[in-house]
Amino acid sequence: MSDTLVPFDEVVAAYDPALGLEIHVELNTNTKMFCGCPATFGGEPNTQVCPTCLGLPGAMPVVNGKAVESAIRIGLALNCEIAEWCRFARKNYFYPDMPKNFQTSQYDEPIAFEGYLDVDVEGETFRVEIERAHMEEDTGKSSHVGGTDGRIHGADYSLVDYNRAGIPLIEIVTKPILGAGEKAPLVAKAYVSAIRDLIVALGVSDARMDQGSIRADVNLSLAPKGSGVLGTRSETKNVNSLRSVERAVRYEMSRHAGILSAGGSVLQETRHFHENDGSTSSGREKSDAEDYRYFPEPDLVPVAPSREWVEELRATLPENPATRRARLQEEYGFSDLEMRDVWASGALPLIEATVAAGTSPQSARKWWVADLLRRANDAGVELAEVGVTPAQVAEVQALVDAKTINDKLARQVFDGLIAGEGSAADVIEKRGLALVSDDGPLIAAIDDALAAQPDIAEKIRGGNHAAAGAVIGAVMKATRGQADAARVRELILEKLA
Ligand code: ZN
Ligand code: MN
Repeated sequence: MSDTLVPFDEVVAAYDPALGLEIHVELNTNTKMFCGCPATFGGEPNTQVCPTCLGLPGAMPVVNGKAVESAIRIGLALNCEIAEWCRFARKNYFYPDMPKNFQTSQYDEPIAFEGYLDVDVEGETFRVEIERAHMEEDTGKSSHVGGTDGRIHGADYSLVDYNRAGIPLIEIVTKPILGAGEKAPLVAKAYVSAIRDLIVALGVSDARMDQGSIRADVNLSLAPKGSGVLGTRSETKNVNSLRSVERAVRYEMSRHAGILSAGGSVLQETRHFHENDGSTSSGREKSDAEDYRYFPEPDLVPVAPSREWVEELRATLPENPATRRARLQEEYGFSDLEMRDVWASGALPLIEATVAAGTSPQSARKWWVADLLRRANDAGVELAEVGVTPAQVAEVQALVDAKTINDKLARQVFDGLIAGEGSAADVIEKRGLALVSDDGPLIAAIDDALAAQPDIAEKIRGGNHAAAGAVIGAVMKATRGQADAARVRELILEKLA
């Protein structure tokens, strides 16, 4: 890597960064944008295709109404105006995974425009202005085989899968984001994170950055501090995690500063981001005047959503995610740190459902974020797919509260629930996990433990109650963890009083 990088604090001392973010969201509609092919992920290559999405001559597209509905809801959630009338446009360029040689998109008539999204950056609100949100279709997917890093250079041959061709996309474009200064990397990350939270709350996409259902392109330029001009930008494509968005901005700021402070000029181009070292490398040169020969799509009727429909959709908008987060943190009494982990793990809706089933917020949080999250990570699945429902967590915690089991046994109950051994009660029964409720066997185990360690009995009698710990440990061992430690302690102290 030959880039000259200027240390970040020197960059922000000398330059003002301008950010721009373009986010593509893949909608979770049943069918594609302009045909009836299934829009599901992961099918055998080229099995979810038809003459329309393969661009065969004479095939006629029809707009997916559900995709328009999702586009309007996204636009409204971003505080945009919704066009009374808009059209699709052909964006002409050649790419092997785009069989029509044009992408059906929107150009000067987007469905949503002039909005904003407030994002939280280290406790401060930063307003990001939205230029537009428009509808378009995804391309197919190329795989380059035989090279070293999956890129076309050095590959022996390439394969194309058109299952993704025609999947509905919404592209959300910001206006230039100015004034972020040293916080530019954090603002970029917070914005993408806020968009993802919004998309999740709207339920219009799987919103999986790692699977490409949300993809961010990061534009960045620098201008001499206080100059008020916009510098030449680079566009880092398809950055696929929040952390990578932050790193890409940081890297590009240092790289641009390296070029500018040496008297050079930044090349306007696309860049690739590299996860391994956080660097970017040159993609293709791209000028603003790049001629896509846009023209209105003649095969599709214009989209003219009635104001009544728009208002109906406005009424379906969920609570703003940031507001909801603050409200629930307050309601549940979680610390900032606890809430951060809850939010980042996607546990909040699960905790909400568990609390609704009667569990205290802290108990619900403990199971989901500590125990079940680890299991989900180990299994490589989302927390919601770990194999335990909020109702089951509530049932297990109720059994802990009733002293039928303790926390340690509860973990074994979760093992059984995940293994499909029936209800929590079934698992306890089958595995023999209930706490010993009868004092008799506990007293017998205490007597054995005291007989084995007579000096400890003396210490306890002498007032050293902490010494009871060793006896409790022995009783727990003897009962295979199925004793109630608090009750054992009471019995020991009663006996030696
Ligand atoms: Zn199709
Ligand atoms: Mn696009």
